[in-house]
Amino acid sequence: MYSPIQKYLDEVHAGLFRIHGGSTESPNRVLASKDPNLVGLALTTSDGFTYTVGDADERFSMQSISKVFSYAIALQDNGFTFMDSKIDVEPSGSSYNDLSSESGSGRPKNALINIGAIAATAHIIPDSGESVFDKILRVYSACAGRQLDVDEDVYASDSAGSAHNRALTWFLSSWGIIEGDPIPAHDDYTRQCAVSVSARDLSVMAATLANLGVNPQTGERVFETKIVQRVLSVMLTCGMYDDSGDWVSSVGMPAKSGVGGGIISVQPGQLGMASFSPPLDEHGSSVRGLAAHRWMSRDLELHFVRTS
Ligand code: GLU
Repeated sequence: MYSPIQKYLDEVHAGLFRIHGGSTESPNRVLASKDPNLVGLALTTSDGFTYTVGDADERFSMQSISKVFSYAIALQDNGFTFMDSKIDVEPSGSSYNDLSSESGSGRPKNALINIGAIAATAHIIPDSGESVFDKILRVYSACAGRQLDVDEDVYASDSAGSAHNRALTWFLSSWGIIEGDPIPAHDDYTRQCAVSVSARDLSVMAATLANLGVNPQTGERVFETKIVQRVLSVMLTCGMYDDSGDWVSSVGMPAKSGVGGGIISVQPGQLGMASFSPPLDEHGSSVRGLAAHRWMSRDLELHFVRTS
């Protein structure tokens, strides 16, 4: 049977080809070489059904979307009081790689910009016998419901061009937000950005958040509910770079975009959505992806302020 959800997704996908603009220019040669015409959408309900259309199985790197999941791990490992002393929960209002920190203490504005994400990754505590990155990959994989891996080409290219992120990392070190050698945190952060996923994977990861920390397909509890509540709140106010205010008012859903071309959005208790389309706008978000999530929020009435 042709389900109404599948029919709707197919219509959204077809409509996206009327949207043009954006650029695939990137200092990362792998991202720059992506076919700009790829478009994939996936939606996973919080009871575990996945619907996909288009290039939903095409692999791309998580980039900034990883920040959401590493922040959740760091919160779960250290608790709110400790993590809040290291990273604030305020929108930065500036670009994702700015030095957006509290004056004096250096505390990053939030965990979804680079400086805050590097700080979050620095505080992940590995279980015995695993490295920090092993833990990151294990938890991301639990959210996706399959074993994920790293795109080594993306990692190598990002790593070679990461002078700016290294500088942010050294600022964190100078303020004592990261103690000891800060460079492993930089490397783990760069590696987490290179985790390779599809829109299908991201929709399951988003649905794990929608299902308040339990992967709806495997039944595994990955995050405690209170952690998910915090992470979704920060996604709502800070998830869309310096476009976050417009996003909250017009779309009204927790979301996160990444320069790999992916975007996730979450309707708590209902569904996780993911899109993939490489051309990015000036903020670093996928142009067609933004349109897809905007349309779905409008048509499925997903804005957190209900008007009907
Ligand atoms: N790896 C990128 C960076 O750290 C991620 C940026 C993004 O997706 O916004 O600059």
